[in-house]
Amino acid sequence: MDEQDLVYLTNYIGGSFVEHSGRDWMDVLEPATGRVYAKVPLSGPGTIDSAVEAAREAQPGWGSLSPDDRADWLDKIADQLESSYEEIALLESRDTGKPISLARSLDASRSVTNFRFFAGMIREQEPEIFDTDDSTNYVLYKPVGVGALITPWNLPLYLLSWKVAPAIGMGNTVVCKPSELTPMTADLLMRAVDSVGLPAGVINLVHGDGIGAGAPLVEHPDVDLVSFTGGTSTGEKVASSAAPMFKKVSLELGGKNSSIVFADCDMEDTVAGVVRSGFLNQGQVCLCGSRVLVEDSIYDEFEEKFVESVEALSIGDPSDESTQLGALISKEHLQKVRGYVDLALEEGGTILTGGEPCLPSDLGGGNWMAPTVISGLSPHSRCSTEEIFGPVVTLHRFETDDEALEIANCTRYGLAGSVWTSNLERGRRFSESIETGMVWINAWLHRDLRVPFGGVKDSGVGREGGKWSLGFFSEAMNVCVKHN
Ligand code: NAD
Repeated sequence: MDEQDLVYLTNYIGGSFVEHSGRDWMDVLEPATGRVYAKVPLSGPGTIDSAVEAAREAQPGWGSLSPDDRADWLDKIADQLESSYEEIALLESRDTGKPISLARSLDASRSVTNFRFFAGMIREQEPEIFDTDDSTNYVLYKPVGVGALITPWNLPLYLLSWKVAPAIGMGNTVVCKPSELTPMTADLLMRAVDSVGLPAGVINLVHGDGIGAGAPLVEHPDVDLVSFTGGTSTGEKVASSAAPMFKKVSLELGGKNSSIVFADCDMEDTVAGVVRSGFLNQGQVCLCGSRVLVEDSIYDEFEEKFVESVEALSIGDPSDESTQLGALISKEHLQKVRGYVDLALEEGGTILTGGEPCLPSDLGGGNWMAPTVISGLSPHSRCSTEEIFGPVVTLHRFETDDEALEIANCTRYGLAGSVWTSNLERGRRFSESIETGMVWINAWLHRDLRVPFGGVKDSGVGREGGKWSLGFFSEAMNVCVKHN
């Protein structure tokens, strides 16, 4: 692409698109081809200061609107995003390398739904009143102030909208810092916000990387809360700089999730469900089931059918409607994922399929990796316990429920899991013993937005989703009125 055809992104501060005054820019690459098609500003602390100041100025006015008025604004943004549904899908597919069909059904659709859902939740909040013999207590949910919203590259607008909607819905103003690898739909959100005429400063956007923009945003003394989604090691840094300032912090971090397959499962549905769970978005979803534990008596049959289904996945051009698997986000990430395949061999694993880069003809510059299934590893090996975040699934045998539980819990992560059985009682009993924030029985990523979302152990701190988001993005205050 010629230099003049590149898109140069701007920040959005105090209701204006602000051109980057610094000299540092980063290339935005298409993961499928490796071609540069846009430039993202690498903003620094001065820009963060301006954005936080704009948010701070706007907060009292915005926070004094009624919840219903704020919910109306969320609906206006949802309507505007819905009118750009196809553009969201196209940008997201190009920016992340994911198949266009997935960008429509998952990213575009959820980004609109997030705004509508939280508009509804905010309108439907019930008053909380507690009477005693001689007093009445009531609870106020006040805005926290200015929020820093930091998001990763795997589900860019899906995750940003999941934070923006409840944050502003509860009366906060925000500064968004999306991943520098996938900035395009955050820009689209700012265009939507601008075109509906949202009051200036309520939503601000600063592009940049973690060190230059993310860290100063978290550390900023005028930022009152931080909602961070990303890797566990970044989460550690965010927590350590936010904690001494007593900021409210929510950390949605990495995962290494188990899919547990019992002998009495419906084989066909389970294979389909576990393949989807392992490889959706090229395995780049924090909830992906990347370790599959299978009861010994059906292991051989399951392995054969599983590998057959994985080999049938169509990998290729993300803009092709029939593509099921696209490219990985970056060269560096591809290298990391391939490193784990090499490690699996050192750790005694057998590659049942994949393991190689695969280059769809005409897309040679992209970050391609064949979906990979590995057997024979110890469930305690690094490959079976560390987050790979790519199209790599390890298979493990178990004989008893206790053994399955020990394997399911032997990682530092505790985000999600799925259990496959026709005995729902056993499924519930087993599921409740897994050290995890979320578990599905005979399903995966079957989302109800009202439920708590988040992890235990190194997968994070706190919960978002439904009323948990409303709680996180507000300060609950008790007023006690003594009766005369
Ligand atoms: P990352 O931690 O590298 O980056 C996430 C965001 O943090 C980016 O915007 C980045 O610029 C910013 N950042 C980096 N260093 C920072 C710092 N020191 N201070 C403040 N911000 C900083 O993660 P990633 O590679 O973009 O995303 C992949 C990870 O995200 C995986 O581990 C995945 O499991 C996790 N994830 C978790 C969830 C969840 O809900 N639990 C959802 C999606 C992704």
